[in-house]
Amino acid sequence: MKNDYDIIVVGAGPAGSMAARFAAEHGVSVLMLEKDRDVGYPVRCGEAISKTGVEEFITPDNKWITATIIKFSLNSPDGTEAVIEFEDAGYVLERRIFDYELAKTAASAGAEILTRTYVDGLLIEEGKVCGVKYEFRGEQKELRAKIVIGADGVESRVGRWAGLKTFTDFRDMECCAQVTASNINVDDSTLYFYFGENYAPGGYFWVFPKGKNIANIGLGVSGMVGKKRSALSFLNNFMNNNYPQAPVLTSIAGGVPSTITLEKISAPGIMLAGDAARQVNPLSGGGIASGMIGGSIAGRIAGEAVKMNKLGHILTYDREWHNRLGKRHEIFERLKNGIYNFDDNKFNKIAHSFNKVPKDKRTLGRLFTTALINQPALLVDIAKVFVI
Ligand SMILES: Cc1cc2nc3c(=O)[nH]c(=O)nc-3n(C[C@H](O)[C@H](O)[C@H](O)COP(=O)(O)OP(=O)(O)OC[C@H]3O[C@@H](n4cnc5c(N)ncnc54)[C@H](O)[C@@H]3O)c2cc1C
Repeated sequence: MKNDYDIIVVGAGPAGSMAARFAAEHGVSVLMLEKDRDVGYPVRCGEAISKTGVEEFITPDNKWITATIIKFSLNSPDGTEAVIEFEDAGYVLERRIFDYELAKTAASAGAEILTRTYVDGLLIEEGKVCGVKYEFRGEQKELRAKIVIGADGVESRVGRWAGLKTFTDFRDMECCAQVTASNINVDDSTLYFYFGENYAPGGYFWVFPKGKNIANIGLGVSGMVGKKRSALSFLNNFMNNNYPQAPVLTSIAGGVPSTITLEKISAPGIMLAGDAARQVNPLSGGGIASGMIGGSIAGRIAGEAVKMNKLGHILTYDREWHNRLGKRHEIFERLKNGIYNFDDNKFNKIAHSFNKVPKDKRTLGRLFTTALINQPALLVDIAKVFVI
């Protein structure tokens, strides 16, 4: 290991690995630090991702794909099921292998990786971030860097240490609980979503198949709801009613920042990517693909900045992110606030109307249009999603 690096990335999730890879591709020195023993473990995720989200960064591989998805089953509170079919919609991943493979692509590009390394502070000189403090094997150490990229996930502290405003209102923090259970008899090419007061008020409930007879079953509720009734109690309810005998292989809880990106995600010497920057899609709560996109932009710009010897270049990251996804997320946020406030009646009405649409015309766009009839005020926002 060197004493200083051009770029240090904190956190080896999808955002961190893409930041490290795209930076290293510029031939600059990159070190990625991960606090856990293994990249990719523990997993706190439903593991669903769109096909395009994967393919921008890595060739699909059955080593880390547990299910290929071609259908969405949307279930309203009264039990009406609306099904949308896609061509190659996406995948359910085995993230512990997927994240590992992403980190390997960073290593192949030339990045160094160190696990069991807990970053616990930043080096800051004259208002500029210039390195990290960390604990490794019981020893406190420091490393200097021209640029630090904080990709340290939802509980990120790197941004706060750098003086960026990282506060997220508890109402925007989806409280999630999930089990991976076996003996679950669902179609392994369908993602199942459940809406309504009994499933997940202010959010949605999911059953995502991980191959035959095994599924990630979980939900996210808005922080407002989570304060009164825990996500876990909704999950236990669902499992007792539907799969009382299902063996549970893993059980997790976690937060998803379902909100717009932080106001500032770069400052002198520092950039944030992934959950740390609040780059999650606020409508779906998905953050793997958007985190990879954010990380790749941050890494590329950081690499360019070092190569050009113009470190101020990193401040262009905010605008690039905004143009690529940030702007879209602002619209998704408004849609989320509209849709997740629907009452059970409205969800039922949408499902009934949608099922009257001929099968071959049932698309996500048509579903939104149906939702619109119930909430015309969303029209402008939805139009923007399809136009922008
Ligand atoms: C229950 C649940 C279900 C979800 N389901 C989905 C889904 O189906 N699809 C989807 O797209 N998204 C889903 N998400 C969101 C998704 O998991 C995250 O958006 C995604 O993992 C973000 O990637 P990231 O690289 O920003 O952060 P992470 O994947 O969280 O990686 C951050 C890394 O930083 C490390 N780290 C943190 N602090 C330090 C430190 N101080 N020093 C060193 N290392 C540190 C962590 O150990 C971790 O490895 C879900 C989230 C939850 C909680």
